[in-house]
Amino acid sequence: MLSSHRNIFTSSALVLTLLASLLSHSSSLTVKDFILTNTPDWTDAYGDLKRKDGVFFNIDKLMKTYQLSRLQAIEVQRTFKDLVMESEDVSPQEIFDRALKLVQDDQLVRVNRAEIEAAQFIIVFDLDETLYDQGLRSDNECANVNYSYAGKPKKIFTVKNIKAKMRKIRDLGGVVAIFSANSQNLTVQNLKNWKNEEGQDVYSMSEISAVLTGKELILQPKEAGQVIVSSAKDLRFFDERLGKVIIVDDNPTRIFQHKNIRVVKKLDGDAYCQEETLRNAYDSIIDEVLTEIEDSVKYMEQTKVNFVTAYSPYSMMGKLAVDLLVSAEGISKAEAIKKVRENQHFVEPRF
Ligand SMILES: [Mg+2]
Repeated sequence: MLSSHRNIFTSSALVLTLLASLLSHSSSLTVKDFILTNTPDWTDAYGDLKRKDGVFFNIDKLMKTYQLSRLQAIEVQRTFKDLVMESEDVSPQEIFDRALKLVQDDQLVRVNRAEIEAAQFIIVFDLDETLYDQGLRSDNECANVNYSYAGKPKKIFTVKNIKAKMRKIRDLGGVVAIFSANSQNLTVQNLKNWKNEEGQDVYSMSEISAVLTGKELILQPKEAGQVIVSSAKDLRFFDERLGKVIIVDDNPTRIFQHKNIRVVKKLDGDAYCQEETLRNAYDSIIDEVLTEIEDSVKYMEQTKVNFVTAYSPYSMMGKLAVDLLVSAEGISKAEAIKKVRENQHFVEPRF
């Protein structure tokens, strides 16, 4: 009897000690424990380690330690980078604590989490060479956004009727997000100076549920899964299970969820301006994607599969499968699309 009491006592003491050590372990973690080290400045095209905004956090570790969603964890990284730039004499630990508190208090300013969570599907758009081209020659006459950035004239050529395009996605039950790998300041200023067909600035449009930029790119250590050594866009911010999100992007090299990318032909504002024969093609890049989305929503509603499955024949991986079926089986494109949707194992999830 006595000994069994002692056993219970000993084991509860053991549990308490374990709990205490676990708690003290999580509270004793400092900002340094979350920073992914050994990432030299030359590996990051957009960040600048010397200015301390090139740091990358271990997102999975942040999520586990503080019970954050992936989106909240990346917002800790983004807020940390924002605050580092504006607080010169404050220690990194204080800045980290402040960033964490802002996120825990749900002070996310540019991300409408409720809309994203409730959406049937999420379409994320890249900006550079997808929705606009800001690398124009100085004599380009087709630019429709002209303003001054950092004292220099800025010219941008954008896709037309952006409000109607985004409205269409919303009307189909989806939400729209922007994810640019470019710098936050430049991206926000570009969007604020881009006026839609109703004269509103694109940054403030209610049709856009989130704007993410270079500060929200990630790296990933091997203990979190696939090793990511070059800063990448992680679509799990929008949907941890990747069943309802796709990104429309001219550059697949920054994205590691290959089944969720719709790669588009680069928008080239100079070519558009010089060669009339290409104008229809450039004008229809995004419209073509919208038609695919509409078709996929119809299929999703008929068959109750998730959006990514319905859209799979149009994704980077799915297109390879469709093309092969058309050429090898001699079937029509429509039949190949149906076959791919019904045979998901024919679409590789990654390279
Ligand atoms: Mg791009």
